[in-house]
Amino acid sequence: MLKAIGVSHGIAIGKALVIREEVAQVKESKVLDVEKELIRFNNALEQSITDLKKVIEGVIEKLGSEKAEIFEAHLCMLEDPEFIGSIQKKISDDKFNAEFSLQTVATETAAIFENMDNEYMTERAADIRDVSKRVLNILMGIKVASIAEIEDECILVAKDLTPSDTAQIDKAKILAFVTEIGGRTAHTSIIARSLELPAVVGAGTGIRIIKDGDLLIVDGEEGIIIVNPDEKTLTDYKKLQIEFIELKNQLGKYAQMASTTTDGKTVELAANIGSTADVEAVLKNGAEGIGLFRTEFLYMSKDALPTEEEQFEEYKSVLEKMNGKPVIIRTLDIGGDKKLNYLPMDEEMNPFLGYRAIRLCLDRTDIFITQLRALVRASAYGKLKVMFPMICNIQELRMAKKLLEQCKSELKSEGVVFDENLEVGIMIEIPSAAVMSDVLAKEVDFFSIGTNDLIQYTLAVDRMNEKISYLYDFYHPAVLRLIKTVIDNGHKAGIKVNMCGEMAGDTNLIPVLLGFGLDEFSMSASSILRARKTITNSSFEECQKLSGPILSFGEADEIKGYIKANLK
Ligand code: PEP
Ligand code: MG
Repeated sequence: MLKAIGVSHGIAIGKALVIREEVAQVKESKVLDVEKELIRFNNALEQSITDLKKVIEGVIEKLGSEKAEIFEAHLCMLEDPEFIGSIQKKISDDKFNAEFSLQTVATETAAIFENMDNEYMTERAADIRDVSKRVLNILMGIKVASIAEIEDECILVAKDLTPSDTAQIDKAKILAFVTEIGGRTAHTSIIARSLELPAVVGAGTGIRIIKDGDLLIVDGEEGIIIVNPDEKTLTDYKKLQIEFIELKNQLGKYAQMASTTTDGKTVELAANIGSTADVEAVLKNGAEGIGLFRTEFLYMSKDALPTEEEQFEEYKSVLEKMNGKPVIIRTLDIGGDKKLNYLPMDEEMNPFLGYRAIRLCLDRTDIFITQLRALVRASAYGKLKVMFPMICNIQELRMAKKLLEQCKSELKSEGVVFDENLEVGIMIEIPSAAVMSDVLAKEVDFFSIGTNDLIQYTLAVDRMNEKISYLYDFYHPAVLRLIKTVIDNGHKAGIKVNMCGEMAGDTNLIPVLLGFGLDEFSMSASSILRARKTITNSSFEECQKLSGPILSFGEADEIKGYIKANLK
């Protein structure tokens, strides 16, 4: 049995599929039989084209045509006579082996694209490398499982999954996943929760004992992985699996209830989403709005920056599906653990402290303005609110607001109708913003506390690093003090204070946060019903009493113990 960090509830039982990144070592050699080498290359090319077409069909069918765009671009490259012709020429004229010819031409072509002045072309370099690797793997007999191509039910086992890997997961095939690295608030874990897929992360190198086809039990609540269980363990977990499903069904009754405490205090219970596809679960679980739309996933599902029109359609579709309920859309938060293949960024020593979110947007105003225009236009179709991430000082907020105003006046002069009273808020996720929240509150319509980052920055604990995950603690008194400060400062300025970090869905902390006066709780759709059960069974007065002494404690464990002892 392996024990790690359970990040998404549920029990899965199934066969392991181990994803290993094998690096192809290409050797340079000359061939005697050029014809034979050309046939070998052409066969690998044909095989890659057939595989890609299959992938495209499957992805369109299961995940929609948008997610297939990247693969379609790859297919175009394999059918490009100039690119392929140069490789064939290198084999026939220079008599180099197929692998070396392919790698040389691909590297040269990618470099040409990278040096072009046109951003779209620069971004194609990554595609060339990607698609060449596909052909190279076939030539070298290396089998690499691609998530979008998985055909049989399995539990994924990997060193790490990127958020874009996770975004390709088809729930009908992938029962759960287990990774060596990662933490509870890594974006891959957040996506697992939104997919309601059991997941255990941060399991370390211990999971390298797992082989393809091993039978696994994954308990996403307890963070347990059992490899090739005996009959008794298997029977026990099958029972637990049924109990989990029954419990989930029982929670169904909370979907239609208001989020009101036993003594009449109503708060808002909202959901976090990454795309239009997630709205179905939001409505099914009866969320009262969307408290965080992480727009970067829209950028990650494409192979080039999404246009104003594409973004407008996506935002409009979410607003229309939400039918007048509030939708907080956060502007692009790329960087940290979220990368765009087509937007090359310099390697950074500390990506989470680096060129990320609003910092990137205020630098790349072309990207930012495209998004702001799409947001303003979409505001005519529902109750949209704009939110800026990673604000660390008032200048950033003012600059972002100025660009938003500029977009509004341009659109107005173009005769576009939009919501003139569009609300603007910021995420409080950097300690400096929490400390200065009295000042910031005067210039925004709402706050949303992003505890995922606020905790990592307050405690100097990388949210992705499993080795120090024991330090990443929702209950740290410094974190709770900052949260209370933000809520009080927001209320003093007459604005609402929300929370959209994962802490908002912690049922032991919800009564404390209610007592602190938090106005809105936004979380993965899969956590809504448990949270509503907690809220509707709590008395606001009791919650205030419970939270009263919290700030006087000096230790996280004391706080945990106190809450446990006093929660009814
Ligand atoms: C947060 O930091 O709490 C948050 C909600 O943003 P993200 O998890 O996307 O960084
Ligand atoms: Mg954040």
